[in-house]
Amino acid sequence: MQFFKMVCLALLASGTAVNQAQCQTSAPVPATPPAPVSFDRSAMDLKADPCQDFYQYACGGWRSSHPMPADKARFGRFDELREYNLYVLHSILEDAAAPGKHSANEKKVGDFYAACMDEPAVEVKGIEPITAWLEMIAAIRDRKQLLDLAARMQAGGLRPFFVFGVNPDLHNSMLNIAYVDQGGLTLADRDYYLKQDAKMMEVRSKYIEHIQKMLTLAGETPEQAAQHAKAVLVLETKLAEASMDRVARRDPKTRDHKMTVAELEKQAPEINFPRYFKLAGAASFDSLNVGNPEFFQKLSGLVASEPLESWKTYLHWRVVKGSAPLLSKAFVDENFAFQGKYLSGQQELEARWKRCTSMTDSSLGEALGPLYVAKVFPKEAKARMDVLVAAIEESMAKDIQNLDWMSPETKQAAEEKLHKVANKIGYPAKWKDYRKVVIKRDDLVGNFLAAAVFEEKRNLAKLGKPVDRSEWGMTPPTVNAYYSPSENNINFPAGILQAPFFSAKVDEAVNYGGIGVVIGHELTHGFDDQGRKFDGDGNFTNWWGPTDGPEFERRASCVADEYSSFVSVKDDKGEVHLNGKLTLGENTADNGGLKLSFMSMTRQAGDNANEKIDGFTPAQRFFIGFAQVWCENITPQRARELALIDPHSPGRFRVIGTVQNSPEFPRAFGCKTGDAMVPANVCHVW
Ligand SMILES: [Zn+2]
Repeated sequence: MQFFKMVCLALLASGTAVNQAQCQTSAPVPATPPAPVSFDRSAMDLKADPCQDFYQYACGGWRSSHPMPADKARFGRFDELREYNLYVLHSILEDAAAPGKHSANEKKVGDFYAACMDEPAVEVKGIEPITAWLEMIAAIRDRKQLLDLAARMQAGGLRPFFVFGVNPDLHNSMLNIAYVDQGGLTLADRDYYLKQDAKMMEVRSKYIEHIQKMLTLAGETPEQAAQHAKAVLVLETKLAEASMDRVARRDPKTRDHKMTVAELEKQAPEINFPRYFKLAGAASFDSLNVGNPEFFQKLSGLVASEPLESWKTYLHWRVVKGSAPLLSKAFVDENFAFQGKYLSGQQELEARWKRCTSMTDSSLGEALGPLYVAKVFPKEAKARMDVLVAAIEESMAKDIQNLDWMSPETKQAAEEKLHKVANKIGYPAKWKDYRKVVIKRDDLVGNFLAAAVFEEKRNLAKLGKPVDRSEWGMTPPTVNAYYSPSENNINFPAGILQAPFFSAKVDEAVNYGGIGVVIGHELTHGFDDQGRKFDGDGNFTNWWGPTDGPEFERRASCVADEYSSFVSVKDDKGEVHLNGKLTLGENTADNGGLKLSFMSMTRQAGDNANEKIDGFTPAQRFFIGFAQVWCENITPQRARELALIDPHSPGRFRVIGTVQNSPEFPRAFGCKTGDAMVPANVCHVW
């Protein structure tokens, strides 16, 4: 859990590891596919006109030669690398799970993986691994017991009503304080509960059917389950009404409410917070940040007004739903039928080994991480990254100096922030110590919860302590990167430092188009519409001059309007536009990243600037390399989901949206103003 949502390069693989688990222990594992490559001529559609549709030009070949795999709802070159990493991790885990002499880390991840792969044992247990929780819920007699059990569930790695944890103080970024925030929804966004359009109404009726089926599997009669399903939807809808929407939550100001615990109790009198925090496992504290006070006011009212039976049904549902991917096949299949097939348009569940591999990474990432790093991460990659990061930072400093709309004072403050950006590459200097986590070879649910409890305790133990900025928010094999506003650092896990992002085998232009743009993207997050509200020390404070802030906003709103005009899905359920305000930070980062990396490449290229390879100039290879990271196919269902919840634009618009604003792009391909890729109105923030 991160109150300061890390702003990263792409949405993580939709939590699929835990959302979809099923069983094929003995199914043969296909051979590891070849490692992805960087610049790929065969991925292009050379018949397309780069000035009219650059995405088709750079990616048309790949998109037509890569029909959607049955076990994916979105698949692109980015995902190809994820999939490749999964094979690498899988071979590590198969070795670790086999008999023989193993290190402590190998034993831990090997046992976790083996327990997950033991489908017959999982099948025999059925729902048994969660019956103790279900019995405790059934035994609740009053509202005090309800809240007590909710707190114990939190301590047990299950999160029922709301979010509680420890994060840096917004205004004193070196100190960890307690946070509470809205939560408790099963569907991915409040809109699923509240919007009255035909699609959302359909989702809700399917959701009711899904709850009913799952509760029936868990032992209720179909009649009971039908009644309970309705009660769950009523309660979750009320929680949705109390929740703030995604766009509002992007602004840290909307989540900045430090108060004493006593003040929180005054606002939400039905919840005994000191008792809740204690039972959840936290040491005593006086003040905290409340992410959304209105949510807690309403939650308190709901605790009093809603029937106790509804709350019990809700908790029961949360436990069944949360653990479904870890239970027997019937639960896994029903969970997938709704979550994967209906909501995302994915045709088949991923093979069990893929799900178990992902789950081991997400549960014990820093035990698996050292094994991954030792196997694949070349030392030269770190040295090369240091040079690239320095080059991109130098470009950002120049870019700030060149801005014609920013006052000298604000430029100086921006440079100060830039110079304080720290960068972390590859993997943590110090790994987490999992010695106290007990992993058994025959207890998948127990292992999963043991890892969750470990993280819960680890997080709560930071309360009142200085922030440790050497920690990582992603595991080493992750194909992603992030900027942390409260830590003012950029982070690049080993998993992304490979083709198509980065390769020792290609020319620098292609690497600048790949990982160079990624570095620029993360750096720009420190100066996007929300990142700019934090200073170089990571504190939420205004360092902008009186005219500079409005000038920035004016430029940013141009970007928001540009991306809102893009249509992500058009089908029989209507047209879905991107939400330019939701994706503004990411789009700003894409545009800034492309610009900064191109500046760096040009500076470094010197005499080689026009030397062609494969018939393409370095500038052309830069743009093609950039675009080819984002070649992808996606189901209309998944595109629809992502338009609602993903702060990133889909691949097509990450490419088109940025090149349309780039003055270097038309020069590289000889395009003219008025061509589709060269609109008359362009947007520039950085
Ligand atoms: Zn990002």
